[in-house]
Amino acid sequence: MSDTEAFEAFTKIRFSDNSGDPFCPECGCCEPYFISTRRKWKCRACGKNFSATSGTIFASRKMEFVDLLAAICLFVNCAKGISALQLSRDLGCQYKTAYVLSHKLREAMARGNDAVTLDGAVEVDGAYFGGHVRPANRKEDRVDRRLSEHKDSDRRVVIALAQRSGRVLPFVVKREADGAAIVRERVAAGTVIHADEAPHWDILHAVFETRRINHTEMYSDGDACTNQAESYFSRLRRAVDGQHHHVSPQYLHQYATESAWREDHCRTDNGAQFKRLAGAALHSPVSRQWKGYWQRAA
Ligand SMILES: [Zn+2]
Repeated sequence: MSDTEAFEAFTKIRFSDNSGDPFCPECGCCEPYFISTRRKWKCRACGKNFSATSGTIFASRKMEFVDLLAAICLFVNCAKGISALQLSRDLGCQYKTAYVLSHKLREAMARGNDAVTLDGAVEVDGAYFGGHVRPANRKEDRVDRRLSEHKDSDRRVVIALAQRSGRVLPFVVKREADGAAIVRERVAAGTVIHADEAPHWDILHAVFETRRINHTEMYSDGDACTNQAESYFSRLRRAVDGQHHHVSPQYLHQYATESAWREDHCRTDNGAQFKRLAGAALHSPVSRQWKGYWQRAA
């Protein structure tokens, strides 16, 4: 694909609300002049210049359209995620550029999640990520890593709420017991909850019809199981261990969201995934967190 074709593809996706015809993001005027040499438009009403990425998460991009397109393709193609290092090699760009771009795509994947509630049948489970304490070389120097005083402070729990034949919503907390409050907040009344034997889910029986599965005895008891949540965790585990190797607690939520998006779309073909992600990115506002090559100062 040439850069011109890529530009046309971007224009179609960006202005899909107006059947692909450009309109001014500032005032909504639908008859802008096209400045072909710069691939930009000038608004007849307010006089502002805008491009196919103005006001979106790709605003002030340095990359060519064709590279941006390739980046989204590479990103959706990897079922377990792609490291920024790998993406930078594949695109021939700087590591930092690939890093920030990946985080912007993750932000687009998370778009709208805050408003989502789950219903029907929902599996809930928690899994620990990060904060690995490496055992000391000599046996006499080693500590009991099961004790809380020897645990690393970077350790976090990802709580997954997985709706059967629906989507996965991940949350990052410090203790798995914090999960029950999240369930009460994000799951509709009348939902059937499936959880394992951990006692901190007991409280859910008061609010929901709750089915439990004791993992020390079996992984599935007919209907009662948390297999969909487990499948999500295995995807996230492979992404964190196999692709990114280290994820700081500050960003764990972004990676957890990315894996949830991949889990939700795993039966969608690549072309449709591309359209979904490119559409989400071009309808997401300018990132508040990621700018230029690095992170915006808080
Ligand atoms: Zn305008």
